[in-house]
Amino acid sequence: MPRSLNPNNSKKTGTIQVDTDGLWVIFQHFCLTYDQEKDILYESAIPRFLDLFDYYNIKATFFVVGKDLLYPERLLLLREVVKRGHEIANHSMTHAEGFSFLPYKKKLREIVDAETIIQDKLGVLTKGFRTPSNDVDSDVLNILEDRGYAYDSSIMPTYYGPLLKRLKFSFLEINHKNRYLGRFIYGLAPLAPYHPHKERLWKKGCMGIIELPITTMPWLRLPFHASFTFAAYQMGFGSALFDLGYTLLKKTSCPLNFVFHTNELSDPISNRRIKRQYGLNIALNKKYALCNHMLSVINKDYKIITSLEYTNLLQNSK
Ligand SMILES: [Zn+2]
Repeated sequence: MPRSLNPNNSKKTGTIQVDTDGLWVIFQHFCLTYDQEKDILYESAIPRFLDLFDYYNIKATFFVVGKDLLYPERLLLLREVVKRGHEIANHSMTHAEGFSFLPYKKKLREIVDAETIIQDKLGVLTKGFRTPSNDVDSDVLNILEDRGYAYDSSIMPTYYGPLLKRLKFSFLEINHKNRYLGRFIYGLAPLAPYHPHKERLWKKGCMGIIELPITTMPWLRLPFHASFTFAAYQMGFGSALFDLGYTLLKKTSCPLNFVFHTNELSDPISNRRIKRQYGLNIALNKKYALCNHMLSVINKDYKIITSLEYTNLLQNSK
């Protein structure tokens, strides 16, 4: 991977992605149900991300769960996302937990149903996908490749996925048997975009689709994208996790694919039943301070384009 895809531009090229997971997704994560017309998490966070990205002149990629398009308020917000020039990517129909454990037909339905509703309601044919909770397997990549997707962005190259899974789900006191946050072996995956092997997705191979891994720290392979930075912030580490990860990244030619979630800019939420979810009840001014810190640092070094534009550049630079 060249240091910059555009040698005339002193900035490197990178991507920023937002998982638009609503409050109902967090409830589902805790094996609870939340099925209300209003989703305060979704509805408060998305306009703020849009304004912040305008401020930094960033074109991001929003990963959309198909089910949210059934709600008029959320649909309007997503139309605004499209209008402001951001990319819409597929994040499955129902954000099903334990995605890799689903039967093949159910995985196919999750991908196709979201793709169909996104096309119907937003007029966008999705070319990128991320599995819920980074729980990806070769079935998923094969389905995406068959359907002409340009990229998947589910792999997080970290050795700590199984450890994080154990810590997180034990801490949440929920059954983690059929859930993954990636697998140990994904720690061996390249940090830069690559064409994956058909069965061993953490290896380079000859699939046509491109895997855009979520950036983790070079050498240490610790995740430091916004979710982890917010979790570390709550533990009293300020922005230290991000600062360390970003400093290490800058010492290498590794590209940047940085991920946010809605709860990182939503109104503070204090619901007893999901109180163990990171970041929910941080004060809004603190959320802004942390997001501004990360975005301003990234914006100094990177020209941010959508994941699809980035994938196209990679394909054309061969
Ligand atoms: Zn998600």
